[in-house]
Amino acid sequence: MIKEIHDLSKEEGKAHVIKYGRFNDFPPNWHEIDAKAYSRADYFTYGAWLSEYRQMLPPTRDKVMVAARLEFLRDGTGYAVVNDWHEQTIKYFKFGCDHQWGDPTEELKKRGIKLAMFDNASYCVKCGHLAIHDSSD
Ligand SMILES: [Zn+2]
Repeated sequence: MIKEIHDLSKEEGKAHVIKYGRFNDFPPNWHEIDAKAYSRADYFTYGAWLSEYRQMLPPTRDKVMVAARLEFLRDGTGYAVVNDWHEQTIKYFKFGCDHQWGDPTEELKKRGIKLAMFDNASYCVKCGHLAIHDSSD
């Protein structure tokens, strides 16, 4: 089930704001992607764990507000589709880390994690995200 922002505990909510900003903030690394890139989004395979509606304003206030529902993935990234009701158009956006995958060996040692037979690990050298997938599923 996808959580909403009000479903988070007080501590989870604080951590979320520190990492992604508040209701009027764009999340870090917010950028437009095209429909082809969106069609290959991890979102379609793994789904989102958190959904949040925002009305985001650029810090300079020189552009119009962007209203969007942000879908957060477990790897710290996310996607949003922004509609223009009057123009009848949509645009696609991605936010969060552009993961740069590196060797997970040292990170697994540091965290005291031993992989099982069919486990594969991915480690992002930019944000520290560690994902372990069971390839036998
Ligand atoms: Zn990353």
